[in-house]
Amino acid sequence: MRPSLLDPLFAPAQALPGVGPKNAKLFDKLLDRPEGARVIDVLFHLPYATLDRRARPKIRDAIPDTIVTIEAKVTDHRGPPNMRSRAPFKVLVEDETGDVELVFFLANHDWVRSRLPIGATRWISGKLEIWDGHRQIVHPDRVMNAEEFARLPAVEPVYGLTEGLYSRTAARAADGALKRLPSLPEWIAEGTLKPLKLPSFAEALDAMHRPKSPGDIDPAGPAATRLAYDELLANQLALLLMRARMRTTVGRAHRAEGALGRRLEAALPFSLTKAQRKAIEDIRADLKSEKRMIRLLQGDVGSGKTVVALLAMAEVVEAGRQAAMMAPTEILARQHYERMAPLAEKAGLRMALITGRDTTSERRAALTALAASEIDVAVGTHALFQESVVFSDLGLAVVDEQHRFGVRQRLALASKGEAADFLVMTATPIPRSLVLAYFGDMDVSVLREKPPGRQPIETRVLPIDRLDEVIARLSKALASGARAYWICPLVEESETLDVAAAEERAEALRAIFGGRVGLMHGRMQGPERDAAMERFERGETAVLVATTVVEVGVDVPQATIMIVEHAERFGLAQLHQLRGRVGRGAGRSACLLLYKGPLGETARARLETLRETEDGFRIAEEDLRLRGEGDVLGARQAGVPGFRFARLEVHSGLLMRAREEAQAALARSDRLAGEDNRGLRLLLYLFERDEAARLMEAG
Ligand code: ADP
Ligand code: MG
Repeated sequence: MRPSLLDPLFAPAQALPGVGPKNAKLFDKLLDRPEGARVIDVLFHLPYATLDRRARPKIRDAIPDTIVTIEAKVTDHRGPPNMRSRAPFKVLVEDETGDVELVFFLANHDWVRSRLPIGATRWISGKLEIWDGHRQIVHPDRVMNAEEFARLPAVEPVYGLTEGLYSRTAARAADGALKRLPSLPEWIAEGTLKPLKLPSFAEALDAMHRPKSPGDIDPAGPAATRLAYDELLANQLALLLMRARMRTTVGRAHRAEGALGRRLEAALPFSLTKAQRKAIEDIRADLKSEKRMIRLLQGDVGSGKTVVALLAMAEVVEAGRQAAMMAPTEILARQHYERMAPLAEKAGLRMALITGRDTTSERRAALTALAASEIDVAVGTHALFQESVVFSDLGLAVVDEQHRFGVRQRLALASKGEAADFLVMTATPIPRSLVLAYFGDMDVSVLREKPPGRQPIETRVLPIDRLDEVIARLSKALASGARAYWICPLVEESETLDVAAAEERAEALRAIFGGRVGLMHGRMQGPERDAAMERFERGETAVLVATTVVEVGVDVPQATIMIVEHAERFGLAQLHQLRGRVGRGAGRSACLLLYKGPLGETARARLETLRETEDGFRIAEEDLRLRGEGDVLGARQAGVPGFRFARLEVHSGLLMRAREEAQAALARSDRLAGEDNRGLRLLLYLFERDEAARLMEAG
């Protein structure tokens, strides 16, 4: 159980000053907590930039194009001739050294007059510019009286926001969250704190939310490093606890001599690649040994991981046990099932699909069969690992697209088969050095080579202004029987004004292509979404307008065109995944990346990289490099899944140390027991590795 000391941090964000029901909703959205943002989410939402308001010059000395805060007297109002005029309202202010014009476009004149009455002294903060030989500040950020000025932070944190939420609200809430931070013991060892010169957890959060200089929030600076280290440490502890739990049960040797596998292979319409052969060999060796297998199968999109998993499962089934394969979404689970079932049938493998959407009677029948060993392989979503699901003898659990699952699901799965072997698969082509951070200590097989016969995907980068051309090309392709995905970044028009909404795009395309246009997005109910996917698979629709729900794993080999609208808003890895949805069959495929200009430098580099290469590993490396160059937006989105602070391009150097420290702690006490480890136990809860924390308690 989470120690009550931490309760103030896990209270709803509404407990914070300035966060009423309306702002709370905005925080839920901003912090991606549909179930309700909490104090800790606000506390962990760090500023990504600062505004430096330390410059307090006399007007004469103020440097153009910098933010200045000046003390001056209001001497004149220069309103437009009448209220209907669109000319700006100007206010002249002066000190003894010079004057500045404050310029307000479309301003409420009464507001300006009352904030800046003639004769009053005011502190004004904003960017000073020279225009037409005059000093001016257009829309000053702040107009303050003496009292307000006294409260002005010299360096102001700038937070990522969502429409309707103000920076000052975010700052005030963060301030409130800091005040609720209980006094916590130090959990980092002296041997790390000293040489790295790390501040305490509380000091680090304070420096971030109340920076005294812009350098305080630097990702490589002490405060950010401290928080990243804490996060890595928590993660390594969780991984090690889990691994210890999994390793305590020795594995079981699965005695099979490969007959079932050979039957399956014979039923395949292709022969295995060398990389697939090598992977399955590694897996078979693991399965034969007494050691418990914990293996990561890493392979770029389309590299053919599924068949490797199927062969692995066959091995275990031949040895008389069951296997399970868990996919992150309903669509994927269904698709895996539909692809594997015919092969399984030919080879005499009994396979069933178990998802959260089965009817009660279907489900009951499947569960009974599973418990009675009448099913060899269960394919499903995380529904597979609910308590009601009982395997007769689970020998192998395969987890697809593993980064989508948290530690929690992996543990749930581990508990299904006390000694089940594990194969986790990912299409995230992360460099070897980083595997540790994502997945912990695992053996790794890599499918680097793609199945033969694939034609390269022609990738083009185009401004959205050339939409007509794109439609013309699409129309031609559809006429010759092609199928296309059309990806839009967000669901509803209301999200941001200029986002091309999937619904609207589908409408527009329907006006041209009629009923051949399907739509699929994350707000649709599951069955509706499946139906849309199925119509596309069967070719009843030829264009599938979708949000990124198709990003992971979906496999429709007949689809040969991928159009991504607002490609500049996607990360490199995500675009690579999207493109990987085509180029799966023998037909020539194309990927059109439509952007809305002007492009920033990083966005341009991202799109350029995609145009140049299809090598997922190269793209991953380039991705790291580009993020390393401090692209603020990219960095915020970077999100190593499951990490809030650790940015691997900056902090990967801390990884080994965190790992060693975690190992040392667990060597002292494998359950992190005792007063000495109180801090580390709190750390696990702070970073919400609760499931791992529970392992310490249960054991
Ligand atoms: P991923 O690694 O992305 O999960 P899949 O397992 O979905 O890839 O495989 C992608 C496609 O390649 C599938 O249509 C699959 O049937 C096909 N495929 C897999 N292995 C081979 C192979 N050795 N030769 C030809 N096609 C293959
Ligand atoms: Mg796959």
